[in-house]
Amino acid sequence: MGMSGSGKLKITLMGTGTSHGIPMIACKCPVCTSCDSRDRRYRCCARVEFEDKVLIIDTPPEFRLQCLTYDVVKIDAILFTHTHADHIFGLDDTRRFTAIYDRAIRCYGSARTVASLKSIFPYAFDRESPMISERPQLCAVEVSESFDLFGRAIIPLELYHGRLSILGYRIGNFAYCTDCSEIPEATYDKLRGLDTLVLGALRYTPHPTHFNVEAALAAAGRIGARQTYFTHIAHEISHADLESRLPRHIRLGFDGLSFEV
Ligand SMILES: [Zn+2]
Ligand SMILES: [Zn+2]
Ligand SMILES: [Zn+2]
Repeated sequence: MGMSGSGKLKITLMGTGTSHGIPMIACKCPVCTSCDSRDRRYRCCARVEFEDKVLIIDTPPEFRLQCLTYDVVKIDAILFTHTHADHIFGLDDTRRFTAIYDRAIRCYGSARTVASLKSIFPYAFDRESPMISERPQLCAVEVSESFDLFGRAIIPLELYHGRLSILGYRIGNFAYCTDCSEIPEATYDKLRGLDTLVLGALRYTPHPTHFNVEAALAAAGRIGARQTYFTHIAHEISHADLESRLPRHIRLGFDGLSFEV
């Protein structure tokens, strides 16, 4: 394996907005009309690069635009957190990459996520479908325990999104946990010793299926990563305003933010 598995990860947040995105359709609030580019947010998606590999976490509705904006020219695997519309409805655009490279792309998720993806996009996963050509298909893989991907251990992290059990992922000392309202104790154990955490923080007011800022600060404090970035942000939050009030080791993510772990 040589040096495989030990090099740095480069992470790019390609979307950091909540399910409506920002600006929201037909909203003229100060954040939706802000001139600060950090207040323009596509739906949540991240790219993780190491060696010559490119992993994508979730494929939101703007996925094609995100690929063009952030120059995604290759995808080696996709990790799915859950199948709410804001996390999967760009999936069809990943088939451009199966065509370019003439090979299937593995899509990882929980058993529930895999079943749901196959029922929503049967033509993309089902080789028997009469609708599709001979081109390689997407390939769905159920995961619940740590697994190896190109020499890296990927650790699925159970999170509660309201009553729905979804997944975050840990890769080395980086973890991505969006859309959570509760982190089980067993998952806190798997989040020890993190360098960088990306964590959902929806808005100021409480929400039944997402951490608000106060709850996200409490969870981030307990996890104690060297650096935490909030994501899945709604239009209640002005980037500049909230960030000016956060401790230095907790920042707001923004579209295009890139860092190494
Ligand atoms: Zn979401
Ligand atoms: Zn607004
Ligand atoms: Zn969700």
